[in-house]
Amino acid sequence: MRVLITGGAGFIGSHLAEVFLERGVEVYIIDDLSTGSVENIEHLQANPRFHYFFDTVMNRFLMAELIDRTDCIFHLAAAVGVRLIVESPVRTIETNVKGTEIVLDLASKKKKTVVIASTSEVYGKSNAIPFCEDGDLVMGATTKGRWSYACSKALDEFLALAYWKEKQCPTIVVRLFNTVGPRQTGQYGMVIPRFVQQALDGQPLTVFGTGQQSRCFTWVGDVVDALVQLSQHSEAVGGIYNIGSTQEVSIHDLAQRVKVMTDSQSDIILMPYDQAYESGFEDMERRVPSLRKIQKLIGYKPTRDLTGIIEEVIQYAKQKELSF
Ligand code: UDP
Repeated sequence: MRVLITGGAGFIGSHLAEVFLERGVEVYIIDDLSTGSVENIEHLQANPRFHYFFDTVMNRFLMAELIDRTDCIFHLAAAVGVRLIVESPVRTIETNVKGTEIVLDLASKKKKTVVIASTSEVYGKSNAIPFCEDGDLVMGATTKGRWSYACSKALDEFLALAYWKEKQCPTIVVRLFNTVGPRQTGQYGMVIPRFVQQALDGQPLTVFGTGQQSRCFTWVGDVVDALVQLSQHSEAVGGIYNIGSTQEVSIHDLAQRVKVMTDSQSDIILMPYDQAYESGFEDMERRVPSLRKIQKLIGYKPTRDLTGIIEEVIQYAKQKELSF
């Protein structure tokens, strides 16, 4: 078996590549290192079944070649992270929409299975908790940059479902809920690696807004395992699946936990959104997935709780510091 992972040098992509290599699969990855990093895949480079292409998914000729060579495509290449989205809206929209168009167009010509990584962000301001895959998506105004990410990903979803319906290209859409683990960088906004780094550096932990907003954090290993299983399940095709955890925590409580677990003397400070991101920034208050659909299909069950996830991130950050 051969798989192609776009964004394979990224946080989730590199974990997925690792798992496939462990299972004897031939792994091709393409990454332009815009947010991914060579460090994430350094340990895989010596494996003869690992093939890395430093390029963008916009390179249609190379993509055609790679899709030709592989049986299944995991399209993870995207502009991610709230900070990046707010600061580079053109890049976000173009990468997310054009990249997916190219992948689906080429894959459909060869009828290759495509797993499209979408996001819980598409639920937007919905308060129909827990979020079900067929629930309404509630977006904010187009003048608020943040929503361009949700809209671009929602368009990717429409496109993936349309390619299945109209062109019989086997597509599977996954909505990932705040995935966390080693190799995730806090550079683009992700809260757990940011809090952990701040706590270890003795810097204040910056809680945005009131800190009463909540999230459910998902262990990267659970996400990767679910991606592999869904890609190999014939009934997954044409469907949308939440992948996440239902253990909800407020961001303020999260900061407190990180502070205790790192034994840090850092203060926890509140920072208004317009200072953290931009004026008029809108956050999502709660984001909890319904996991019924994925549980029913592949028996999905999160294996690590929040404490376990934070422990892993702390350990990774400490090791990284030692290796410098
Ligand atoms: N957040 C925070 N401090 C930070 C980074 C993020 O308080 O340094 C908050 C952010 O406003 C959001 C939550 O933590 O409410 C999760 O942010 P993240 O960027 O990790 O993911 P999101 O759920 O926003 O996609």
